Amino acid sequence: PAGFAFGAGSRVECVLREEEERFVMQVKHILQEKGRHVIAIAESATMGEAASMLAEKRIGVVLVKNGNQPLMGILSERDVVRAVAADGAQALSRPVSSYMTRNVATCGEADTVEELMEMMTRGRFRHVPVMDDDKSLCGLISIGDVVKSRIAETLNEANSLRDYISAA
Ligand code: AMP
Repeated sequence: PAGFAFGAGSRVECVLREEEERFVMQVKHILQEKGRHVIAIAESATMGEAASMLAEKRIGVVLVKNGNQPLMGILSERDVVRAVAADGAQALSRPVSSYMTRNVATCGEADTVEELMEMMTRGRFRHVPVMDDDKSLCGLISIGDVVKSRIAETLNEANSLRDYISAA
C-alpha cells in the first residue's frame, strides 16, 4: 500500500528490528519446550542394539556413555548406515565405540538458535548436545527443533507486522 516502504531504515524494518531486540531465541528456550531428557547408550552396546534403540524411540542419534562419563561420543542413524555399507551385517554385532563420532561438538544453553544453525551447517550434522555451566549434559537439540523454533519466530514476526499495519 501507498506509504509503506519495506527497505532498510523503513518503518516496517524498524518494527521487525524492535521485535528482534525484544526477544532472541536461545537454546534454553527450546529446552524449556521440549525438556532435558537425553537418550544414551553404553559404548560397549552393539550396533544392532543401537539400531533398535534408534528405531524404537524414533530418534536420529544416541549419545554414547561409559559408566559415569556421559559423552564419550555420538552415534547417528547415518553412522549405522555407513557401518553396514563398510562392513556388512557383521557391523551390527560390533560395539558402538567402533563406529561412533568421538569429537562431539556441543553448545551452551545461552547460545542462540542462529549460532546453532551455523554450527550444524558448518559441521554437517543435525544434532547438538547441550552442556550447562557446570559442563554437565543437559539436553540435545536436533535440526527439527531448530526448524520448529524458526517457524514460531517467523509467525511471531508476521503477527507483529500484521498488528502494526492494522494499527496504522
Ligand atoms: P547427523 O546429521 O546428526 O545424523 O550426523 C551426521 C554425522 O555427524 C554422524 O557421523 C554423526 O556421528 C556426526 N555427528 C552428529 N552430531 C554431531 C555433533 N554434535 N558433533 C560431532 N559430530 C556429530
